[in-house]
Amino acid sequence: MWNAEGLSAVTTPILFVAGSADDIVGYEKGVRALFQQTARADRHLLTFVNGAHNVAAPIPAPAEAWAYSEPLKNYPFMHYEDGVWSTVRSNNILQHFATAFLAIHLKGEADKQAYLAVGAPLEGFKPRTTNGLTLEYLPAAKSLVLSAGVAAAQPPAPAPLGAKADYHVHPKGGLTIEEAVRRSKADGITYGVAINGGLNQPAPNAAAAEAFLQAMRQYPVYVALQAEGREWVTIFSNATLAKFDYIFTDAMTWTDDAGRRMRLWIAEDVGAIADPERFMDTLVARATKIFAEEPVDLYVNPTFLPEVIRAEYDTLWTPARVSRLVDGLAASGIGMEINNRYRIPSQSIIMAAKKAGVKFACGTNNTGAQDLGRNEYCAEMIKACDLRTEHFWAPPAEGKKAIQRKPLPR
Ligand SMILES: [Zn+2]
Repeated sequence: MWNAEGLSAVTTPILFVAGSADDIVGYEKGVRALFQQTARADRHLLTFVNGAHNVAAPIPAPAEAWAYSEPLKNYPFMHYEDGVWSTVRSNNILQHFATAFLAIHLKGEADKQAYLAVGAPLEGFKPRTTNGLTLEYLPAAKSLVLSAGVAAAQPPAPAPLGAKADYHVHPKGGLTIEEAVRRSKADGITYGVAINGGLNQPAPNAAAAEAFLQAMRQYPVYVALQAEGREWVTIFSNATLAKFDYIFTDAMTWTDDAGRRMRLWIAEDVGAIADPERFMDTLVARATKIFAEEPVDLYVNPTFLPEVIRAEYDTLWTPARVSRLVDGLAASGIGMEINNRYRIPSQSIIMAAKKAGVKFACGTNNTGAQDLGRNEYCAEMIKACDLRTEHFWAPPAEGKKAIQRKPLPR
């Protein structure tokens, strides 16, 4: 019953909760395996890192549990206590997520979705209060191929498709993979679907990355990893990374010279930028360091600037900065996305990149179903910049992936 086929029959939404050090029912081969294999259920996995079997056990423990038990040669209270996690705290955390989960699925309160959104920061928590917690999500696959021997869908053959491909689609925020595949067919646009991998990301470890690969390989799409933060290089093995059709990253998360880790799209992280020139120099330095060191195939959300300085985009991206950026890409053989949602890079930066020999890929970086378009901006730029087949990026052939050419910096 508890094999993949039996588990795939479950279609109700599930909130799995586990301690990563559970040695009673197991974690990787226990609760996490259930999470991975209930493929037709919309599901979350909340993990108390280093928690054991009794983490977030019922509270309070019954009074009888406090007394020594002669038959057990132990205190039954041990069944209600965890060696790492405070019982009160773990119960509060569990109530938080259970309340949101039940509100969404039993009471139909869609506005509570934010509390189950994966990624950092977790909604409803104060800074520094989520250490040791991971929340993961896998969408329900509707048309699961269960019979052994049925081949998985082949990803499309790598080809320079220009505006006929969107290499940056996230099946999330209401966009199911089935809906994505339907739209891909209807619009005649090949999709590359990606999971975000890295610290506190939907794929915070190899098992989650593998589960995504396994789930997506049933569909005629490219499967990509969006490498997040700079910590990703220490999280996944080469073998896991090489299973993705390509890996992309952006230069939107980095630590400045004062030690502040910033996500450029989050205003509170960025704060006020007192010295935009200095900020730009740091941004270019961080981006070019990523291009030189990290084994990525594609640079996405390129030239993105935080809201507070975005109005100065054309003046802050000086020709000198642009040429450092595009030369860095060209030197490492990394393609550049033309992003439909942010409508970046500008036409003049695309022209500079074209001159430097950089190849281009269309991508959207959708947040859900509503902002996934038809490569409108990218198509516009392809025309305006006279980009032809030889200028189009394509997913690398087997053996030619960045992860197969370049070691992980560790
Ligand atoms: Zn993305």
